[in-house]
Amino acid sequence: MHIAVVGAGIAGLTLGAALSRSGIRCRIYEQAPRLSAVGAGIQLAPNAVHPLQRLGLTEHLRAVGTAVQAIERRQWNDGHVVSRTRLGAECQDLFGAPYYTLHRADLHRGLLELLPRGTVSLGAALTAAVEHNRGVTLRFDDGSTAEADMVVGADGIRSKVRTALIDDTPEPAGRNIYRGLVDASRFPGLVAEPKVRLWLGRGQHVVCYPVSAGRSISFAATMPGDRCSAESWSATGNAEDLRSAYRGWDAELSAVLDTVDEVGLWSLHDRAPISRWSSARTTLIGDAAHPMLPFMAQGANQAIEDAVVLAACLRQNRDRAPEAALRRYEEIRLDRTARVQEGSRTRVPALHGSGSQAAGHTHHEGDTSSLGSRAWLYGYDAERAVEQKEGTNGHT
Ligand SMILES: Cc1cc2nc3c(=O)[nH]c(=O)nc-3n(C[C@H](O)[C@H](O)[C@H](O)COP(=O)(O)OP(=O)(O)OC[C@H]3O[C@@H](n4cnc5c(N)ncnc54)[C@H](O)[C@@H]3O)c2cc1C
Repeated sequence: MHIAVVGAGIAGLTLGAALSRSGIRCRIYEQAPRLSAVGAGIQLAPNAVHPLQRLGLTEHLRAVGTAVQAIERRQWNDGHVVSRTRLGAECQDLFGAPYYTLHRADLHRGLLELLPRGTVSLGAALTAAVEHNRGVTLRFDDGSTAEADMVVGADGIRSKVRTALIDDTPEPAGRNIYRGLVDASRFPGLVAEPKVRLWLGRGQHVVCYPVSAGRSISFAATMPGDRCSAESWSATGNAEDLRSAYRGWDAELSAVLDTVDEVGLWSLHDRAPISRWSSARTTLIGDAAHPMLPFMAQGANQAIEDAVVLAACLRQNRDRAPEAALRRYEEIRLDRTARVQEGSRTRVPALHGSGSQAAGHTHHEGDTSSLGSRAWLYGYDAERAVEQKEGTNGHT
């Protein structure tokens, strides 16, 4: 079986690594002419850390990641802590893995190193993927074509592969998000006690955490609006706009924002969950399948789960046409990813306050801060889910 994967983001690279571990050939087609360090920080919970460790990234994650001690939610104006979810040893004990924060580019680099040389074709922008009886023909914007037994769309929220399966478009969330990095040496307190810190106010919030083994602080600041039409990893914003939107906020946060020079700007979009991602020889993973708002910090985590589940389904089915494996992959993944997509949408009022709390600008996190309540999310084992599905099928 030869598999074409479209997109060398976190989803595509994880799938490439998982297929390679299973001895299945794949080629990843990426539109960008080079893979450069885009974006800023990313949070990886145990549900993604476990599969990455099994793929061989244990040491890499330890070297580039920061195992954070807690997620701490603070009052917007004085930094008063309104709730805390302890991670650190508690996370390790409950879920058998740390909760890491890291730079996206460090994760990309680790995944790339797991791939056989020559797996990624750069400057290959897919324009169409056409299924036929014995496989799929891929067409690229330079007029070239390629053949494969099946294709996986790992091409993000504006997936071309998805258009062959479903007629829908990304939905704007009416929110912008500024993201960037600042030098951590100016904020030793934020690194000495590594945490995911959120400052929560009416209609907007900021998330800060250390990345690059504590050398930088990544921040993401939301606000209402729709400043740029497309979601892209490379759109830039104005640092002064960011500062003025957060004027009067807690002094510790303001000190971080005062040092910002370059800032990325995203207009947030997602799509509603759907009931099918696949046809006979085509399927989707990651944001191409289930783009979600970043408010549960799970988009990449879910993409990693998708990749290992899809690779395991294909491995179990390797001598047959892919349709049955794709059906099984969907059955395992659809409900879970829909739950996280919906949860990411409904989390906005909890983060930004609602009703009288919002009017008074005080914040009370409705969510429980107990880590145990997140067992359904962080305690999920993607590979075990495939084994369980296999067991269920064996008994029917
Ligand atoms: C502000 C923000 C904060 C976030 N924070 C977190 C977090 O803390 N934790 C977390 O888990 N998730 C987080 N996410 C979500 C996470 O970043 C995404 O879910 C994840 O990057 C999706 O990966 P992907 O590989 O599916 O898509 P992408 O990263 O979008 O990669 C798609 C790739 O496909 C390529 N491509 C696109 N079209 C084509 C084409 N036609 N031909 C060839 N190649 C193509 C693109 O160039 C790109 O390389 C956040 C998202 C945002 C916006």
